[in-house]
Amino acid sequence: MSEGTRGLLLSGVGGQGVILASMIVADALLNAGFDVKQSEVHGMAQRGGSVFSHIRWGEDVDSPLVPKGSAEVLAAFEWAEAIRWVEYVREGGAVVADIRTIVPPGACNDKRAWTERYPGIDAELFNDRQLKTRLVDAAATATELGNVRAANSVILGSVAAFLDVEQDHWEAAIERLVPRGTVEINLAAFREGREVAMARVPRPPIAPEGFSGPHQIDINHVWCKGCDICSRVCPEYCLAVDVDGRLNIINPEACTGCRLCELLCPDFAIEIHAPQTPAAMADANPAGGTT
Ligand code: SF4
Ligand code: SF4
Repeated sequence: MSEGTRGLLLSGVGGQGVILASMIVADALLNAGFDVKQSEVHGMAQRGGSVFSHIRWGEDVDSPLVPKGSAEVLAAFEWAEAIRWVEYVREGGAVVADIRTIVPPGACNDKRAWTERYPGIDAELFNDRQLKTRLVDAAATATELGNVRAANSVILGSVAAFLDVEQDHWEAAIERLVPRGTVEINLAAFREGREVAMARVPRPPIAPEGFSGPHQIDINHVWCKGCDICSRVCPEYCLAVDVDGRLNIINPEACTGCRLCELLCPDFAIEIHAPQTPAAMADANPAGGTT
């Protein structure tokens, strides 16, 4: 495999628009200046069967085929297709899956039984592999925006949240490739999909009342790729990436808890926690100060 080459897999069912989605991803990566190789879409597109496309990008890509266990992201436009292809995702990679379910044509003889056999939607199914899973109700989101046919752009927006490709490159690809008259709705769906992927569980207020000590910075080094975004946006110069590409906390006392680093990290690799009061620190470390 070429050094620095990365991969992405798109999967869905014939008729879902996987071909167009794959073209948009490849075009966005080309716009960003990468060498890109995209496989033809394989599968039974005309018969409602499983359809998939491989994309690889980097400085100099030799083959479009993504080896198993190496994809940065799996974009699945149907839930069973996410399960079918998840083995292609690397440890710590991301799965963006539409929660829509499509009955395979072969199951139509036995419609009652398919509902029992179809795998249940489970956001925690891939937890043992530390995958970042985003389940997206793309059709509902696109319908709310005004056109269910923009659902695939919701999924692409969520995929974009995991890749280092500027928004402008994605939007240029969408503008170039989606059917005339649908650019605005697809752009809106893309932006919403990105928000969905970035959304976090609401948290309690970040600082205990009346206390203003430094916030706690928590870096997940397994997920952090040392891209330097967080250290460049930190207004207090708390963070720095060293020559080995490892992110370090160099000024912990200065962290104000603004959460810019957390919100802009594309890999969800940094979290900011409320400052600990002296009482909480003493509780956590009852032996503190005795040595
Ligand atoms: S924490 Fe996130 S933004 Fe910061 S260097 Fe790591 S991957 Fe990049
Ligand atoms: S929360 Fe704000 S101040 Fe603290 S490390 Fe992140 S960007 Fe810097």
